[in-house]
Amino acid sequence: METNKSCQLCGKSFWGRSDKKFCSNACRYEFNNQKKIIRNEPQSLINSILKRNRSILDKVCVGDSIIINRDELLHRQFNFEYFTNLQVDAQKQLYYFCYDFVYLPFFENNLQKVKIIRFNMRKLTWDPWKFVKEEKETLSNKIIFNSK
Ligand SMILES: [Zn+2]
Repeated sequence: METNKSCQLCGKSFWGRSDKKFCSNACRYEFNNQKKIIRNEPQSLINSILKRNRSILDKVCVGDSIIINRDELLHRQFNFEYFTNLQVDAQKQLYYFCYDFVYLPFFENNLQKVKIIRFNMRKLTWDPWKFVKEEKETLSNKIIFNSK
């Protein structure tokens, strides 16, 4: 039985089956599309922040590397909250990555500075085991399903 309904997207009233929610295929498509955008919002937002960060680094780092003030990056809307990966060296210096750029925060005469390096991806030699403590008891002995 057809009843008088109102479209969930545009609010227009229409006649349709009781389970029908939209006045047209266009409205149904648009509604689902909006739902999808809302669902993907955090991901899209972070992606756009990272892309903007990378483009700022690309703009300010004219050569292979540069040292600039933190404020200059902030002024260009750089967002320090997001980065693509993080590495630490033996001196506990943190290296922040934004795609193919690396930046290191440091102090110089009490000023917050950033060294930016255009990174050659081929130089990547990250070894996750470098920071794992040497095994004390052999871990494999503790694996329950290990047979004799
Ligand atoms: Zn509609």
